[in-house]
Amino acid sequence: MTDYDIVLKGGRVIDPATDTDAILDVAVADGKIAAVGPDLAAGPKTTVTDVKGMVVTPGLIDTHAHIYEHVTGDFGLNADLVGVRGGVTTVVDQGGASALTFAGFKQFVAAPAQSRVLAFISTYLAGGLLGHKYVDLYGPTGINVAAIVKTARENLDLVKGIKAHAEPGGFSRWGIEALKMAKQASRELGLPVYVHLGTLWPQKEGTSVDPQTIIEQVVPLLDAGDVLAHPFTRYPSGFVSADGTIHPLVHEALAKGVTIDVGRGAHFSFDNARAVIGAGILPTTLGADLHGYNIKFPDGGRWYRGMFTDTEEMEPPEDASLPFSTPYGIHHTMSELMALGVPLPKVVAMATSNAAKLLRMEDTIGALKPGMDADVSIFRVLEGEWTLRDSNGVAVVTHQLLHPENVVRAGKVVTADSPLLPDLQQLAA
Ligand SMILES: [Zn+2]
Repeated sequence: MTDYDIVLKGGRVIDPATDTDAILDVAVADGKIAAVGPDLAAGPKTTVTDVKGMVVTPGLIDTHAHIYEHVTGDFGLNADLVGVRGGVTTVVDQGGASALTFAGFKQFVAAPAQSRVLAFISTYLAGGLLGHKYVDLYGPTGINVAAIVKTARENLDLVKGIKAHAEPGGFSRWGIEALKMAKQASRELGLPVYVHLGTLWPQKEGTSVDPQTIIEQVVPLLDAGDVLAHPFTRYPSGFVSADGTIHPLVHEALAKGVTIDVGRGAHFSFDNARAVIGAGILPTTLGADLHGYNIKFPDGGRWYRGMFTDTEEMEPPEDASLPFSTPYGIHHTMSELMALGVPLPKVVAMATSNAAKLLRMEDTIGALKPGMDADVSIFRVLEGEWTLRDSNGVAVVTHQLLHPENVVRAGKVVTADSPLLPDLQQLAA
């Protein structure tokens, strides 16, 4: 008999990496997955956790978060509120930390977090200060390829790629030059570049960039493994053109091996998601893009829609009791894709095995194989009827919602009690 540390008993284990979807036990010992199977026997020191009726998956990986707390101002959230306390075991910061500020990220964010914290380093020396508010910091003069390469090389345990933007505001100022520099660093490092699509900055006065032409310039620059993010953006610079058709360059990108990250945030359009998924294109990974400007804090704090417009404050939701007037995390993003017809195991693959591949960590995380790190997520599938709303206020009715219960992270159980999550009692009512 093996004396496991933890046995998660009787849950529905969904592990796309091993093609598993069955009622099984998961055992953890010494911070590693020890066994997955029926009726695993507990020993004298084993803590048995009953997870009947719940789903057990490899630890969820949120590929797009903003957690450089304090340094990026209100934009950066606490890593563990997005991570373990949000039911997520690995959180990837997208472009908060830069060559100039990486040491602080490592010491004050990554090191103290219970969550596994990784980063796509910013293309720009300024990083993601106030969510990239001051546009003049983000042109080619604010980029140093050698500095990115040096910092990334010194921190390859944390740096898994480079964050860049391709959107009309930047293109109106400096064209594709900033992305070219990001790609230069990406090629020197052999790391992917993660490209934000969808309007971020206002265009330079007196210019008019056609958003649909951006992707035409971006795709030829990209290599296999690079990522196009925010495909379902409600702005016309994503995958869906203003006339509702899928941009032909998207197919070219996919044929090249470029992957797609949802990057939910304040970008999400159900209509555009339906058009893309309807065309047979599924996202590869599932970043929730949580940040301090798109979350409603329980203390009644900030709540923004357009980040850098003059009317920044969002309208309060019609019914303040509805928990889904703003996105809150990866479970919500997963539920939205399910509402559009994507089956649960496919959605789980996006947040586990596919994400681990993006990070090139599929030998360590993203699957429940014996010997791998004991990162496990446990969540409920609530049944009922709820209305989901996208960033345009478009509604979709759903009958299933995922809600996190807890995680095992590095062999320890952590309860999903983040104040950023909706209230389970309220949901189940
Ligand atoms: Zn973001």
